[in-house]
Amino acid sequence: MSSHQITGDSDDTPPANSTESALQTARRQLRHAAEQLAIDPNIVRRLRHPAKVHEVTLPIERDDGTVEVFTGYRAQHDSVRGPYKGGLRYHPDVSRDECVGLSMWMTWKCAVMDLPFGGAKGGVAVNPKELSANEKERLTRRFTQEMRDVIGPMQDIPAPDMGTDPQTMAWLMDAYSMQEGETIPGVVTGKPPVIGGSQGRQEAPGRSVAVIAQAVCEYYDRVLEDTAVAIQGYGSVGANAARLLDDRGANIVAVSDVNGAMYDPTGIDTHSVPSHDEEPEAVTRYADETITNEELLTLDVDVLIPAALGNVITETNANAVRADIVVEGANGPTTSTADSILNERDIPVIPDILANAGGVTVSYFEWLQDINRQSWARKRVNEELEREMQTAWTAVRDEFESRSVSWRDAAYIVALSRIAEAHNVRGLWP
Ligand code: NAD
Repeated sequence: MSSHQITGDSDDTPPANSTESALQTARRQLRHAAEQLAIDPNIVRRLRHPAKVHEVTLPIERDDGTVEVFTGYRAQHDSVRGPYKGGLRYHPDVSRDECVGLSMWMTWKCAVMDLPFGGAKGGVAVNPKELSANEKERLTRRFTQEMRDVIGPMQDIPAPDMGTDPQTMAWLMDAYSMQEGETIPGVVTGKPPVIGGSQGRQEAPGRSVAVIAQAVCEYYDRVLEDTAVAIQGYGSVGANAARLLDDRGANIVAVSDVNGAMYDPTGIDTHSVPSHDEEPEAVTRYADETITNEELLTLDVDVLIPAALGNVITETNANAVRADIVVEGANGPTTSTADSILNERDIPVIPDILANAGGVTVSYFEWLQDINRQSWARKRVNEELEREMQTAWTAVRDEFESRSVSWRDAAYIVALSRIAEAHNVRGLWP
C-alpha cells in the first residue's frame, strides 16, 4: 500500500529511513493518543479521514497573456466542534495528502486550545516567487470563487500560511464579499487590521511560544532570569518569542536565521537585532560571534526553541541536544525518532500544537471581532491570549501529571478527548 493512501489502516507506519509525511504524522499521533484513552474505535476510525477534500482547477492569465493552469485544494478534516479553520499555502509541494495531514493537525491544535473550530488546510501547488503581485491576486480571486460554496465565516475560515500573507487574505475577503453582495470580513483571518484583521495577530504565535516557555520553566522550578535560551529562526515566531522572553528577564544567548546564528553567552539585546520582517536574513550581520544553526541546536542551554523549519531535530542530532527543555516554535521541528530519543533522555519537549497555537487563537479573536463588528485593543488581545494559553497549559499539565505521559502525548490526549466527546454526544448522522 502506498504511504499516501488514506483509506487503509496501516499507512501511519512510515517506511524505514524516510521522513514521515504530514498525513503519516497526524495519523500516528491520533493512534498513539487513542491508545491511551478509552475512545470508541468508531470515532477514531472517522478521525483518520477528512470529512471532505475539495480540488479545483485554476486557469490564470499570466502577465504575458499566456494561460497557466494550477491545482488548488481545501481539505476539511473535522467540524464536530465548529467551522473548519486552517491556513492557505502557496507552495510547489502542496498536494492533496499534505493538505489532509495538515488539516488533521489543525483539528488537534484548535481542540487543545478549546477553540470552537475544526481543522482545515488548503493550498495551491505553485511557486509564489514566480508570480507577480497581479498574478497572485488573480490566482487568489479565482481560488476563492471556485471554493466559494465551501468556505465562509460559519463554514470554513482560511488564514495565511507559507507563501500567503495578509494581502492575500484581503484579496480573498474581497472576492468572497463581492460575490456575496456584502462585506464579510469573518471569511478569513490574518487580514490587515484596516479591513477587520486583529491587532496582535502577527506576533501571536511567538507570544504564545514565550508564554508556554515561561510556564514550563516555572513548572521545572527555573527562574526566568537565570534561564539561557537559544532560538532557531528570527521571523514571526522566533523574533517575537525571543523579544518577549527577553523582556520578561530570560537570557537569550543565541538566535539565528538561514545564514547562521548570533551567539553571546552574556545575553543578546533582542530588540536591536532585526527580525525577518524588519531586515531579512540579517542576524549574523549584527553579531560579534557567530555559530552555525547546527551548533545552535546543540548548545548547552536551559531552553531550546526551534522556530524556523520542520524536521531539524532528527535521529542524527537528538543525542547531541544539550538543552534541558525543548519548546517547539516551528511546526513539526522534531522527527518522531528524535522525539523518542529526547523522551528516553528525559528532555521535555513541549509540542507545537500547544506552544505556537497563539496564531490560531488570535485568529479566533479576529473572527469573534468580525462577526460581532468589534475591534479589540492590542492590550485586550494580548491579555486574552495569555489567559487562553494559561488555560490550555493547565489542561495539558494535568494530563501530563495524572497519566505520566510525554508532554506531546498529554496535549494530544487533551485534544482527542474533547473531539471524541463531542462526536459521542452529537452521534453519527443519519
Ligand atoms: P518567517 O518566514 O517569519 O521566519 C522564518 C525564519 O527562519 C527566518 O529568520 C529565516 O531566516 C529562518 N530560516 C529559514 N530557513 C532556515 C534554516 N535552514 N535554518 C535556520 N533558519 C532558517 O516564518 P515564521 O512565520 O516565523 O514561521 C516559522 C515556523 O513557525 C514555521 O514552521 C511555521 O510553519 C511555524 N508557524 C508559524 C506561524 C505563523 O503564524 N507565522 C504559526 C504557527 C507556526
